Amino acid sequence: MDIYLAEVMGFCFGVRRAIEQAEAALQDGGAVRSLGPLVHNPQETARLEALGIGVIDRSSDADAGTVVIRAHGARPDTFEELRARHLRVVNATCPFVQKSQRIAREFEREGYTLVIVGHPDHPEVQGIQGYVAGPTYVLSSPEEVDALPAAITPGVLAQTTVNEHTFDEVVAAIAARYPRYTVQNTVCSATRDRQEAARLLASRVDAVYVVGGRHSSNTNRLAEVCAQVCPRTFLIETATEINPADLTGIARVGITAGASTPNTLVEEVVERLRGIR
Ligand code: SF4
Repeated sequence: MDIYLAEVMGFCFGVRRAIEQAEAALQDGGAVRSLGPLVHNPQETARLEALGIGVIDRSSDADAGTVVIRAHGARPDTFEELRARHLRVVNATCPFVQKSQRIAREFEREGYTLVIVGHPDHPEVQGIQGYVAGPTYVLSSPEEVDALPAAITPGVLAQTTVNEHTFDEVVAAIAARYPRYTVQNTVCSATRDRQEAARLLASRVDAVYVVGGRHSSNTNRLAEVCAQVCPRTFLIETATEINPADLTGIARVGITAGASTPNTLVEEVVERLRGIR
C-alpha cells in the first residue's frame, strides 16, 4: 500500500499565530486563558493546557490575568466587557477574519443587509454578526435563499472555512432572486489551498484519512470535499481510530489534515499506516 500526503495540509497561518501569541502571553506571567479552545483539536488543546493555557467558555468566567481571543475572533462587546473588567486581552483574531469583520461593517454603512454563507453556530460567524447593528442572516445552502426577506439588498460574505462550491451556489441563488446585491468572497486562501490539495489527493487514491477534530469546521469541509471524489474517506482524530479492515484491497491511501491539526498527529497516522501495509 502506497501512502500519499496532500501537498498543503495541517496548521494554517492564523492558528499557528494564535498559539504563538498565547504562548508569548504565558511568558509575561499570570493566568492565561483562551475564550473557547484556541484550536478545534482536543489533542492540541490538551497540550496547551499542560503548558498552562486554560480554556474558558464565557467571558464572565475570566476573573484575572490574560484572556486570549482566538483566531475566530469575537464580538466587539466581548472585548469591551473584558477590558472594562481590567483583564489583559490578547487579540489573536486571524487577519483574514478581521477583514471579514471590516467588510461586514462596510456593507452595513453602504446600506446592505449582511448575509453570511456559513454555519450559524460557528464562533467566527457569531463574532462577525456582532460588527453590525441591524439584522443579519446566515445560510448554509442555496435552498435557504428562498427564506430571506424579499425587501433586503444582500451583502454576502463567506465564513472563512466554508466550502467554496457551496458559497458559489448560494451567490448564484441570490443573483437569481435579487436585482441588487454585493458579494465578497472571504473564503481564506489557507482553506482554499487545503481544499484544492485534498480534492487532488482524493482523486488519486483509493482511500483518504482526514486527520482533525470532529468539531473542527474546516476539517469537516475537507472530509466533505474528499468524500465527493473518493467515497472511502475517513475522518479521524488520532491514528488509533484506523481500522485495518477498512483498507482491505486498497493500493493507495491518502492523508490530509485540518488547519487545526498538529503535525505530530499526522506523523502518527503515517506510522500506523506503514505498520498495516
Ligand atoms: S482557516 Fe484561514 S481564516 Fe481561519 S485561522 Fe486559518 S488562516 Fe485564518
